[in-house]
Amino acid sequence: MANLSDVLESAAAIAKGMTVTFKEMMSPALTEEYPDVLPRFEERYRGAHVLQRDENGLEKCVACFLCAAACPADCIYIEAAENTDQLRMSGGERYAKVYNIDYNRCIFCGYCVEACPTDAITHGHGFELASYDTASLIIRKEQMLAPLPPGASGEVSVTAPTAADGH
Ligand code: SF4
Ligand code: SF4
Repeated sequence: MANLSDVLESAAAIAKGMTVTFKEMMSPALTEEYPDVLPRFEERYRGAHVLQRDENGLEKCVACFLCAAACPADCIYIEAAENTDQLRMSGGERYAKVYNIDYNRCIFCGYCVEACPTDAITHGHGFELASYDTASLIIRKEQMLAPLPPGASGEVSVTAPTAADGH
């Protein structure tokens, strides 16, 4: 037969549990209205990647491959190309002509973001990534690029100098 201390211990445990229950009952309900209202994420949330541009609209990625080297899932594919006097896509010598991330493999670890020397690859807050088609989970550069800043073209074309220019 339970002695008095056991009874008091049980009563105290029940009272403690009910305190938590009543406290939660009085708190406002945190109901997400998704999909009518998109959820708000904390800044640190690692969602779909975004390839950033600089203030002139040029791509920040300089195709150095450091993100691909750091990726533990081996899911970043890059093809580099040289910027020329006629066409400049990034601020560096090279730009990523092709930049794909395979979301079938990505584990959203953020190592690519940490490795990037130009802060080009970042995590955004996109989360609606589910698909029945694995091919659609290979996300291309064009899908990841940040929008152009107002008035920027995103590429700089320079006309080759001519004799008439005195060059
Ligand atoms: S988040 Fe991690 S797994 Fe995904 S692309 Fe970046 S390094 Fe690779
Ligand atoms: S995203 Fe960053 S780390 Fe990756 S290739 Fe471009 S500049 Fe290099």
